[in-house]
Amino acid sequence: MSALAGEGIPGFSGRDLPLAAGSVTAARLWHVDMTSAEAAADGAPVEGLLTGVFGGVWRRGENVAVCGGGQASPPCPQDLVPAPDCGCGFWAYWALRYAWRCDYYWHGEVIGVIQGYGRTRIGTRGCRCGKARILALHLRPAGPDDQPRGLRHRDVAEVLESYYGVPCYPSLAEMLAAHPLTADYLPGRQRRLATSPALRPRTPALPAPVNWLLAGRRSPATPAASQGTPPGRRTENDESGRQAS
Ligand SMILES: [Zn+2]
Repeated sequence: MSALAGEGIPGFSGRDLPLAAGSVTAARLWHVDMTSAEAAADGAPVEGLLTGVFGGVWRRGENVAVCGGGQASPPCPQDLVPAPDCGCGFWAYWALRYAWRCDYYWHGEVIGVIQGYGRTRIGTRGCRCGKARILALHLRPAGPDDQPRGLRHRDVAEVLESYYGVPCYPSLAEMLAAHPLTADYLPGRQRRLATSPALRPRTPALPAPVNWLLAGRRSPATPAASQGTPPGRRTENDESGRQAS
């Protein structure tokens, strides 16, 4: 199953590490199941409010990963999840930037920190683990391309907080300050990324002559141009131009 299954992707090697006690903290994204969120807001019982990229509902407290099998292969035995030749297990990353890069095309509305434990496969960008619990959440502000939500942003944040019993932070910086990510497995020069609330690298400024050449050719649809903000001045946490990256 190779690359499609996660093995072969840089940072997710199939190499086994020796058995160690403990847990890791890492970041990942989810979708909000708005039907369940609205039901929970009305006090109805629900199975969970957050789903992963391949589905799978996240519950309050401990979650146990189950293998769904590959296209032509049967599910891995439960005691092997996350198996080396499969993509099963809960995926999470050592830096928000890596979580974003792996999932940005998918537009998860919620970014959070998990504690991962049990059988865990460690890579240089993140891990896949057999068991996980949510520690902290952040609901991204709705962007211009997002579907309108039935509940207001504040209501969704409140229902997430009360359902999962964890804080839903107003900013990524506050979330990371309160729940530091595991940095031990990042390569030395990348270690600072663990504390960075940025979802993507700062847009590198073009050399001056090239800026000058491009100055008259900016399309009005370019977010930076339409907002009158030079790319270099946008904050690292600015989410308005995410479709451009
Ligand atoms: Zn599997």
